Amino acid sequence: MEQSTTDPESTWIVVNKQNPLNPIDYVPKDLVAPQFPVLNANPYGRKLRKEASKAAYKLAMAMKAAGKGSLVIQSAYRSYAEQKTIHARQVEKYGLTTGEALAARPGYSEHQTGWAMDVSARGQGCQIRVCFGQTKAGRWLAGNAWRFGFIIRYPSEAMEVTGYQYEPWHLRYVGQGLAIVMHEDKVRVLEKFFGYPSAPNY
Ligand SMILES: [Zn+2]
Repeated sequence: MEQSTTDPESTWIVVNKQNPLNPIDYVPKDLVAPQFPVLNANPYGRKLRKEASKAAYKLAMAMKAAGKGSLVIQSAYRSYAEQKTIHARQVEKYGLTTGEALAARPGYSEHQTGWAMDVSARGQGCQIRVCFGQTKAGRWLAGNAWRFGFIIRYPSEAMEVTGYQYEPWHLRYVGQGLAIVMHEDKVRVLEKFFGYPSAPNY
């Protein structure tokens, strides 16, 4: 298909605090809950779009083969309704500013595209924490995810652009072609690559 940064069908879609999904309650058509035989990488049955799930399998296989551990998908697709619940819970618990720093508004989360996943590595700790970036799995992912079409979507020191703190566990599938070019050009965030304005806030 023709790639587009505004069409959620495209692996190039840019979703951030200034660019919600359109339609806001978008649901991907080809979600699958990959089994990842032998690897047991998806014990919670999380869903991804088919193309991203195939790439995630290759990524998990390569990580295992490199001796960097067993990938576990903690979270992947989240629906508009699920995000609404998560957002409301965090805002209620921490107030608007802190709550929204932890959870995106419904319609503004990359997880709703089916192209994003939060991962950990079995037995390496630092699950969904900044220190994951320093585990052997976290380091390997930062250096190799691009080869499989994934980027670390919220790198350190990019909060003013992406609107999110460093999340070494959040992998976004952008397709192998784009991931390779971004890697070669040393451009880490989609906003910069596509010339989008920074999106620190709603
Ligand atoms: Zn995430």
